[in-house]
Amino acid sequence: TSRKLIAGNWKMNGGLAANEALVQALLQGIATPSCDVAVCVPAPYLAQVQALLSGSPIALGAQDVSAHPQGAFTGEQSAAMLGEFGVRYAIVGHSERRQYHGETDETVAAKAAAALAKGITPIVCVGETLAEREAGRTEEVVKRQLAAVIHVNGHCISEIVVAYEPVWAIGTGVTASPEQAQAVHAVLRAQLHHAASEHAAGIQILYGGSMNATNAATLLAQADIDGGLIGGASLKAPDFLQIIAAAR
Ligand code: 13P
Repeated sequence: TSRKLIAGNWKMNGGLAANEALVQALLQGIATPSCDVAVCVPAPYLAQVQALLSGSPIALGAQDVSAHPQGAFTGEQSAAMLGEFGVRYAIVGHSERRQYHGETDETVAAKAAAALAKGITPIVCVGETLAEREAGRTEEVVKRQLAAVIHVNGHCISEIVVAYEPVWAIGTGVTASPEQAQAVHAVLRAQLHHAASEHAAGIQILYGGSMNATNAATLLAQADIDGGLIGGASLKAPDFLQIIAAAR
């Protein structure tokens, strides 16, 4: 369907020297990618990586964004601030933020709206825990998480990216099978179709959770998997480049 997006989520990893080595290796290996590519870096390194990526086909992303435009919100970064550093994408509602920082569906929707208001594309993460999957609640959970964002963002929905990241597959080495992932992606696509029928086919729905150089191609071959959100494997240039090569 749409052009694929391969986005790296570095999480809280890296440093000035490591970032430079990683980005240089990516730029050397990438030439003209046949898909969209982004790296979502820790906030202190936005300026560094912006400079390294300048004029390249790799877009810059942040890992979070404040729901508020400015003011007394210690430790947060506004969408306008991110925009000043050339940020194109901001991950919102990653399961690690939902889990460790108490982010609710409502917070995530407000963050997506704040990003959209400043022209930043939110990568909206949804996904069930193992307990929820085992209780047969996967569909209900991901639909509730996506509905909150659709409800608040209405007409801007065509400018979001959705990432399905089953919590049990994140950082565990256990990937959803292509069939398991495709089944959930089809549910999300149908929900997007219902909310924004004319745009649904163009909205990129990424898979995330232990995607690597070996399993990427079969996951990316599924009808409704439009790319990947990659954690661990995005920190190793050869692996990330192989995933990019698998997305066509
Ligand atoms: P891993 O690829 O390390 O499992 O992380 C996935 C993820 O959470 C990306 O946002």
